[in-house]
Amino acid sequence: MTGNISLAQGRGYLAIPGPSVMPDAVLRAMHRAAPNIYAGELVDMMPGLMADLRRVVRTAHHATIYICNGHGAWEAALSNVIAPGEVVLVPASGRFAHGWAEMAEGLGAECQVIDFGKSAPWDMDRIAEALKADTAHRIKAVLAVHVDTSSSIRNDIAGLRAVLDALGHPALLMADCIASLGCDVFEMDGWGVDVTVTASQKGLMVPPGVGFVFFNERAAAKRASMPRVSRYWDWVPRANPTDFYQYFDGTAPTHHLYGLRTALDMIHAEGIEHVWARHAVLARAIWAACSVWAEGGDLVLNVADPAHRSHAVTALRLDSGKGTALRQWTETNLGLTLGIGLGMAAPGDPAYDKFFRLGHMGHLNGQMVMGLLGGVEAGLRALDVPCGKGALEAAAEVLAAG
Ligand SMILES: *Cc1c(COP(=O)(O)O)cnc(C)c1O
Repeated sequence: MTGNISLAQGRGYLAIPGPSVMPDAVLRAMHRAAPNIYAGELVDMMPGLMADLRRVVRTAHHATIYICNGHGAWEAALSNVIAPGEVVLVPASGRFAHGWAEMAEGLGAECQVIDFGKSAPWDMDRIAEALKADTAHRIKAVLAVHVDTSSSIRNDIAGLRAVLDALGHPALLMADCIASLGCDVFEMDGWGVDVTVTASQKGLMVPPGVGFVFFNERAAAKRASMPRVSRYWDWVPRANPTDFYQYFDGTAPTHHLYGLRTALDMIHAEGIEHVWARHAVLARAIWAACSVWAEGGDLVLNVADPAHRSHAVTALRLDSGKGTALRQWTETNLGLTLGIGLGMAAPGDPAYDKFFRLGHMGHLNGQMVMGLLGGVEAGLRALDVPCGKGALEAAAEVLAAG
């Protein structure tokens, strides 16, 4: 590794694809005594909070909050619209689509998974074939992961809606934008998404622990026809609360709400379009550096076509198998923590050590990206990974051009 002195003192940098870096303002907003949950500021802030959440997701429809992580939000959404025995179609471009399918299976759904592997986007023709074959309309929903955080593939949600519409298939379009919200462009209403699932700890810049489900009238109609929905996951009282506790079916996630209030203020002060544009430039800087490193023949970007790459996370591998070593080196020596490879190879399989990911979601600016890339460059050199020269210059040029 290195015989040199550790340079890890100073502020650590967690560059993993969630939880993301939290703004100091969010942390400060959470650092307070327990608030009154019956009346006053917290109760009064809710209508504005829900409206500002809808603005991030770009929907005029219903918004709900759950005290849970992303897995909980997956289950919450499914519980409202998928009854045991119903069929869901799951196009998969990575581990997270399979995870959502497993959640549906656990609720008694029959899952039809179309696996596009670990580095390819959806093939719309194959999705169309599966929908066309379903002449009885047994498929009640398509579970669409927008950005699969394991592979860093971004899929075309609007294109999937176009396929459903062209075939006149009535299945609900359910989108997981947990990784992409507040990073990649996402338009719930504009793209015809019926149910959107997301969570607090990625582009929303708040600690893990709060999940969100948004739904439109088509989804509300399916909910109304369900034989039963478990009381806790039921979105009806949460979306139409007459009492404050109904937003959460119990005690509010008090401090998360203060953090979220501040995070939404930051997002809307910047402007969501600007947030998307910032992530786009920062992602291009990261890819520019990665492309130069790749000239050495060892580092490989998992997603070949930039058009299918997420602006929130970049999945990489080192064919020499030094991915794990790189993560350990940057963390130990520089205080820079990179993401593990997820779903690419099983832990214990020697191939597992090839994979790693860079998280670049949320509270992130140009100097942080240059720090991240500089840290990776140092690690690659320390580990004698053959790399092209000029990666940081290439990234700097992207930032200079804006
Ligand atoms: C992070 C993530 C999840 C899971 O969220 P948890 O909070 O870890 O349960 C699901 N889907 C996507 C796309 C994610 O990025």
